[in-house]
Amino acid sequence: MTELHRELHDIYDEVARRNPGEVEFHQAVYEVLNSLGPVVEKHPDYVDTAVIRRLCEPERQIIFRVPWFDDSGTVQINRGFRVEFNSALGPFKGGLRFHPSVYLGIVKFLGFEQIFKNSLTGLPIGGAKGGSDFDPKGRSDGEIMRFCQSFMTELYRHLGEYTDVPAGDIGVGMREIGYLFGQYKRITNRYESGVFTGKGLTWGGSQVRTEATGYGTVFFVDEILRAEGQSFDGKKVVVSGSGNVAIYAIEKVHALGGSVVACSDSSGYVYDEKGIDLELLKEVKESRRGRIADYVEARRGTAHLVTSRSVWEVACDIALPCATQNELGGDDADMLIDSGCRIVAEGANMPCTPEAVKRFDAAGVTFAPGKAANAGGVATSALEMQQNASRDSWTFEDTEARLAEIMRRIHDRCLSTAEEYGQPGNYAAGANIAGFIRVADAMLALGLV
Ligand code: GLU
Repeated sequence: MTELHRELHDIYDEVARRNPGEVEFHQAVYEVLNSLGPVVEKHPDYVDTAVIRRLCEPERQIIFRVPWFDDSGTVQINRGFRVEFNSALGPFKGGLRFHPSVYLGIVKFLGFEQIFKNSLTGLPIGGAKGGSDFDPKGRSDGEIMRFCQSFMTELYRHLGEYTDVPAGDIGVGMREIGYLFGQYKRITNRYESGVFTGKGLTWGGSQVRTEATGYGTVFFVDEILRAEGQSFDGKKVVVSGSGNVAIYAIEKVHALGGSVVACSDSSGYVYDEKGIDLELLKEVKESRRGRIADYVEARRGTAHLVTSRSVWEVACDIALPCATQNELGGDDADMLIDSGCRIVAEGANMPCTPEAVKRFDAAGVTFAPGKAANAGGVATSALEMQQNASRDSWTFEDTEARLAEIMRRIHDRCLSTAEEYGQPGNYAAGANIAGFIRVADAMLALGLV
């Protein structure tokens, strides 16, 4: 890790001390503070008014018990979380993650990232995140519904279209949002569409929301390529993951003329030299809720499964980590660099370790951080809120055009901010600084909050 500016160092130490053991949260805070040196040099008032220290402390944290009956009639107990991190720019906004790895440190890292991501979109949304250590894998539809209903029986009192608006994340898709929204509606007796995003199209959802995170990531890379006078045409791409973000990233890469030759899940990766067959992948992952091994079997011959090594050993021009945090480490970065990869864009939240990012920087690989590259998901959530507020719904084409325009603006803002603060071409610095300044100025305007 590089040395932090002195005042920022003290802030980091305080965060580490007050949030013991929450390593992912420490990592996310360090990464942002590391970019803010030139900002506090120019504007010491951000330190004097304690706005950075305040930003590192969530406005509210909710932890609750989630009891539910499994199919055998046994009582199961999980832990639910919602960290309402910052509402200076708008209602708290951010997804819910259901995964056994979820604990307070993960929710805080995601909530903290969300503040800057949401700020970067330029839209009126604050930052939050939530979820549970519930593991949906292998659970029946009835179990998922009972879990969601119990989760919402506690969480509903903290939500509202002007207060806190959750959405999906890992393990939470349209099915889960349906059960959560259904329970919210039942308890509150209000059809309050704007309290959730990621809803189904027949009950208040927005076109393009399902595709938005993956499409947005690819639009962002397209802007990077464009700035270099290039395009996706003929580019070889490797994507990690095979969930919602990965699937729609693959779809857009193919639409723009590139070829995705590998993707993965927690059991390993699939290499498909002819390019991933997206219809088949969707069928296996979305309809059957299957594994990539099922994809390989159905593909008969052209694809093969590798279970013992990392997907980042596959040679490519562009890498899109779309699985989960810290999935791409220093050694993986070296493999990508050696194979000639020129651009890495994070579809997931913080998938590259600090060591990996350091090596990309040293090797001149363009690195697009998640809070910029994957902001299309939450930006389209904000478009869903706009449609709900005006009881309107827009076409696919119109919504997609707005998403593309938002990604273009985020890209340009990252570049111009990086330039302004003396780090031309550094997207991570540009994203952190631009995201920070908008939210910090709003906090200052609102008094001591
Ligand atoms: N979970 C997504 C993210 O990481 C989306 C959040 C939302 O749409 O509110 O940005």
